[in-house]
Amino acid sequence: MKYVDEFRSQELARDLASTIAREADTGRHYAIMEFCGGHTHAIFRYGVQDLMPANVSFVHGPGCPVCVLPIPRLDNAIEIAERHKAILLTYGDMMRVPASKRRSLLKAKAEGADVRMVYSVADALKVARANPEKQVVFFAIGFETTTPPTAVALLTAEREGLSNFSVFCNHVLTPSAMQQILDVPGQSIAIDAFLGPSHVSSVIGSEPYERFARDFHKPVVIAGFEPLDVMYSALMAIRQLNEGRAEVENQYTRVVTREGNLKAQAMVAEVFELRDSFEWRGLGAVPYSALRLRERFRAFDAETRFALTPSNATDVKGCECPAILRGQKKPLDCKLFGTVCTPDNPVGSCMVSSEGACAAYWSYRRHQAGEALPAGEDEFGEEAAA
Ligand code: SF4
Repeated sequence: MKYVDEFRSQELARDLASTIAREADTGRHYAIMEFCGGHTHAIFRYGVQDLMPANVSFVHGPGCPVCVLPIPRLDNAIEIAERHKAILLTYGDMMRVPASKRRSLLKAKAEGADVRMVYSVADALKVARANPEKQVVFFAIGFETTTPPTAVALLTAEREGLSNFSVFCNHVLTPSAMQQILDVPGQSIAIDAFLGPSHVSSVIGSEPYERFARDFHKPVVIAGFEPLDVMYSALMAIRQLNEGRAEVENQYTRVVTREGNLKAQAMVAEVFELRDSFEWRGLGAVPYSALRLRERFRAFDAETRFALTPSNATDVKGCECPAILRGQKKPLDCKLFGTVCTPDNPVGSCMVSSEGACAAYWSYRRHQAGEALPAGEDEFGEEAAA
């Protein structure tokens, strides 16, 4: 298959691994943050970390939109379905993410709320057209990749006068999260370079990352999601670090350009504006890091249409999702991993989403004794045999 098989070649992977081992300076360590959950899954699914020399490590970043949504926003989504009796439409991953009091949209559905899974926001419009007597709300989440379809849906709803349709907007922005990781006292961690998002960058382009190279002296390599994309991008980052360069380089040239998709950007700018601040799981309140509907579209804004109860619910005690999303811990550092918390019984968002770091470890590493296991415990958090 063109554009897939050739990026999974074992022979090329072996060559790349040898090149990285040869070029990585044994006198230093390279900490490379892969921003996206898609990269994290590629790294574990294909054993990319195991192909790296010991002094090259991947640090998992916050690029999983389901994972970074804080519990109060989930509580509000449940409230829209239960208290306001709306039909709430959402992507599948969101259904099982734990809200406060161990509730979830799936449990709300089981208890009678009209919560439905959709594959796209276009399906949400169909539900609104078919149910004119009901309020229909699309629970919009995601980074810049999923924002343009929401903008199209809102423009369509406005054109059709679809007055029973609204959007609960939780679209967030990648560069603001990167800034937070690098810039906030007490939260910053030792990262030498970033593997930048590929799908997000197909929309916003590579230009927004240039300030991280310039102001923080961190190389950024826009990286595709196949294993050879990730390996070659790591090599590009290592070469920059060896040469003392900090630039934005684009490995994913088959999709990403410097300016991105200008038509999509214009549509997003027509419909959305920046929020002053937005709460992220793990990163806290991040300035100018999320979008809300512009005044022209307020009639379609679920936060305006429904009086939502403020919630200050916090993460479950013992769940390390916040530290994992900041790159400060790994899933095997969590004592609940594989014991209390599994994909069938998730405690935190990182175990639910297909892009979550805990889900990646569960799928591909739970049978290995991890380097980060607590002393005296096996990978399931149980006492190791002597
Ligand atoms: S294993 Fe579960 S409880 Fe632990 S950090 Fe991951 S999601 Fe949270």
